[in-house]
Amino acid sequence: MSRSQTGDKTGATNRKVAEGVYRFGTHRINWYVLEADAKLTIIDAGLPAHWSQLDQWLDDNGYELDDVAALVLTHADVDHVGFAKTLADRGVPVYCHPDDVPRLRSHPQNPPGWYLRNLWRPRFFAYALEMLRDGVRSVESLADVEPLTDGDVLPVPGEPRVIFAPGHTAGSCALFVEDRNVLFCGDVLATRNIFTQQEGDPQLLESADDNHEKAKASLARLESLGPVTLLPGHGNPWSGNIDTALTLAR
Ligand SMILES: [Zn+2]
Repeated sequence: MSRSQTGDKTGATNRKVAEGVYRFGTHRINWYVLEADAKLTIIDAGLPAHWSQLDQWLDDNGYELDDVAALVLTHADVDHVGFAKTLADRGVPVYCHPDDVPRLRSHPQNPPGWYLRNLWRPRFFAYALEMLRDGVRSVESLADVEPLTDGDVLPVPGEPRVIFAPGHTAGSCALFVEDRNVLFCGDVLATRNIFTQQEGDPQLLESADDNHEKAKASLARLESLGPVTLLPGHGNPWSGNIDTALTLAR
């Protein structure tokens, strides 16, 4: 499937969002490649149709699939799991927090209530159509994962540290790459409102959270990381002090 078919407007040339970090997906859904010592960690797995972007990028940059050392899932919502099974089938270890494994095993599932309740919003409806186009109904479940544990520095390229921040889902995590000040925050924070599809400041996803109060409380777990490049699951990168981002989100 070509880039235009997957709605990729980021283009192949401007994927770089931080030192050795590349952004993929569409303007509505992000996933990333983290490069270190000529090996790669994939952060989240978008939707099934996004696979061709990875395939193409590896080829364009002199990489083989064998150079992909790991896939780390910030959480197991369907729009972050797309091609996880494809990587797992090729022997790539998939990391996920144990509290999100039941969700990982449940795909493809029926859309949750909050999803159906918001379909009347034209921009959310467009997002839903994009997800259908990109294979949301064919996301495969996954059973075997490497567990993410709070505080662990993962033995994968880039060595991200796990910050457990539940609420959006029970097993949501952020991943901090300390030596590059890069924070992959999954859906713990977003910079794009998924209902209005407006870009903006760091914000909580609110009505898409499993437990919004818990998601709010988990923000404290990100305090004092200092200046960061925030790379969310939805929306453009945001740069600044994490405590400013948290104030904006609260
Ligand atoms: Zn998401």
